[in-house]
Amino acid sequence: MSGKKDRVKDSDRTSILVPDFKHCYVCGTDRDIHLHEVFYGSANRKKSKEDGCVVPLCGIHHNLSSQGIHYNKTLDENVKKQTEKIWIKTYCDDSLSNEEKIEQFIRRYGINYLEEDELNERRTV
Ligand SMILES: [Zn+2]
Ligand SMILES: [Zn+2]
Repeated sequence: MSGKKDRVKDSDRTSILVPDFKHCYVCGTDRDIHLHEVFYGSANRKKSKEDGCVVPLCGIHHNLSSQGIHYNKTLDENVKKQTEKIWIKTYCDDSLSNEEKIEQFIRRYGINYLEEDELNERRTV
């Protein structure tokens, strides 16, 4: 199949991580905000866009310093883990086991960042 898919326009984008794109996901500033695709590898970039796996980051926390997510592996992995968790909450059926949920994510993105027990964390909000 070679069906054409409409591109998602920047102005129509939504994120499963944040309600809007006004503030840096890391430091909260509202200056110099870039949109960052969490799963930016070539094959996954489009899916990341479709699924709303996007975060607003300031230049410093994006790619303009060594603290930026494109250079700071720890930050990159933390955001990927958080996004995978939220992706699973957003797109997976609650009745699935943690293993099955992670399998769904792997089927979509071909990769996994979580341990099964990381899905059991209780939120204390
Ligand atoms: Zn920042
Ligand atoms: Zn980026």
